[in-house]
Amino acid sequence: MQINLSEVISSEGKVMQVEAVYEPETFQTAAGEYPIFDKKPIYFEFVNLGEKKISMKAVIELALIIPCDRCLEDVRKDFHIEAEREFNMNETEAQRIEALDEMNFISGSNLDVDSFVYGEILLNLPMKILCSEDCKGICNRCGTNLNHGTCDCDTRSLDPRMAKILDVFKNSNK
Ligand SMILES: [Zn+2]
Ligand SMILES: [Zn+2]
Repeated sequence: MQINLSEVISSEGKVMQVEAVYEPETFQTAAGEYPIFDKKPIYFEFVNLGEKKISMKAVIELALIIPCDRCLEDVRKDFHIEAEREFNMNETEAQRIEALDEMNFISGSNLDVDSFVYGEILLNLPMKILCSEDCKGICNRCGTNLNHGTCDCDTRSLDPRMAKILDVFKNSNK
């Protein structure tokens, strides 16, 4: 979805509020593709500050389903992102991209909602997703989810030097 900003760009002091839809149903990164849930309409407010400077506020609310880093069970991660940006329509597109130092979500006088929101989610994506702080993970021998049960594998008595070798072996199989 595109938001046409020409009205707010053309008149100083103008305030424009818009609700927009983020269209994708999944969020895709190099690490995987995560379903999106409970998307709310995205609220935007644009203000023409004069001299073609535009301030923008946006509120993004949605949830992603991401597998736990340790046990791979689905974890719901809620996002409530309040973003603020300021851009100068006197600048060329290339200058603006450099100034916003990230993404090219404005082209001509249109704002591309999908690429803006994608960038915001990416910025706010946690490095690590855990179903709980003390997630026990899965047994690396038999694959049992150790949050739900135990297995008979004897992993604790493993010689630490041997464990290291097994780790190397595991990683080389990835
Ligand atoms: Zn977990
Ligand atoms: Zn096991």
